[in-house]
Amino acid sequence: MSATLITTAGSGFDVEKLRNDFPALHQDVHGKPLVYLDNAASGQKPLAVIEAIDHYYRHDHANVHRGVHTLGERATAAYEGAREKMRIFLNARDVNEIVFVRGLTEAVNLVANTFGRERFGPDKTVLLTRMEHHSNIIPWQLVCAQTGGGLKVAPINDRGELIVEEFEKLLTPDVALVAMVHVSNAIGTINPVRECIALAHARGIPILVDGAQAAPHMPVDVQDLDCDFYCVAGHKMFGPTGIGVLYGKAEHLENMPPWQGGGEMIRRVTFDSSDYAAPPARFEAGTPNIAGAVGLGATVDYLQSVGMSSIAAYEQELLTYATEILSGVEGVRLVGTAQDKVAVISFVVDGVHPHDLGTVLDRQAGVAIRAGHHCCMPLMEFFGVPATARASFAFYNTRDEVDVLASAVVNARKIFN
Ligand code: PMP
Repeated sequence: MSATLITTAGSGFDVEKLRNDFPALHQDVHGKPLVYLDNAASGQKPLAVIEAIDHYYRHDHANVHRGVHTLGERATAAYEGAREKMRIFLNARDVNEIVFVRGLTEAVNLVANTFGRERFGPDKTVLLTRMEHHSNIIPWQLVCAQTGGGLKVAPINDRGELIVEEFEKLLTPDVALVAMVHVSNAIGTINPVRECIALAHARGIPILVDGAQAAPHMPVDVQDLDCDFYCVAGHKMFGPTGIGVLYGKAEHLENMPPWQGGGEMIRRVTFDSSDYAAPPARFEAGTPNIAGAVGLGATVDYLQSVGMSSIAAYEQELLTYATEILSGVEGVRLVGTAQDKVAVISFVVDGVHPHDLGTVLDRQAGVAIRAGHHCCMPLMEFFGVPATARASFAFYNTRDEVDVLASAVVNARKIFN
């Protein structure tokens, strides 16, 4: 089927038109049109985001929350406006539940060092899943090393799906917190987080959700999920690097101690003791990434104009097509075949190391994929592979690009076998 058929499928989802919003997609790599399939690592940026940051620096830049002058007021309005946009995007109840952080990694470290540290101890555990990204493993490990206690891991099946009954059995009184990924970056599995949250809450256990790979691909509603914390990385959802969001229920944020200290997060300071600001300022010490927040606000506007439900529907069609085409390529084995997936395809090819494959695809076909452990070493260990090749799609990818990928894999296999 041609790209045009799918581009006009469904509710007028016009992928060719949307591609024009992304300048970086329109370039040649090694003499071939770029096929960018490394979206799980980072998404490309629409012009609206690039221009919002450009405009901010050209016209509105000053420090936030302190200027009594016009530029300070404009910068503050832009920064706080972006917070409100993120509130709407995640459907948080209150704008003060949106904390700007450096990225997903910082969001998890923040919760581990505040909410977590207060609850951990020698007899306590954090329950994770086998498919966590290292940034949802190491922060807990670091804090547990200081407080005592440790990690427990909910198992997955051969398709790469969480075994919910086993997850439920592990929700014992020692569990101080569950931290789990909404969507796996390595294999694309969509976890039944709503069900897991309900199971944890039924036992009084709070839960943090790593939403890095969900927010760019589907509508997310934190009130509907009822999660205690939800973490998002701006650059994965086609926004700037160096900015992300920690959503936390107000009742938690209000009772959490600060993590980093400095300007902006205080109410009153003396050399003997200090009082801290209310959330979210309590968790935003120092001059924040103002331009990053402005860019993230523009990202949210952009994604909402496209529509997250339309994005999800289009990507599901693309996933079905890509799965069919790639699994039909001789010598290809898919790693992670969950029933519920986003458009991420991890695979290994007979006789070709994933890193070699990645290099050949780039040099010979202009196809950008990721090769490696995807910061999920325990998951790779489960599947018995040191690494996979991963093609991860976004709403601006097309069926034609899937075809280019598939024939490039066929050619690479000829080179190495
Ligand atoms: N969790 C998941 C599921 C991810 O995909 C990533 C990025 N690959 C992270 C966490 C870490 O995000 P960041 O590096 O932007 O902090």
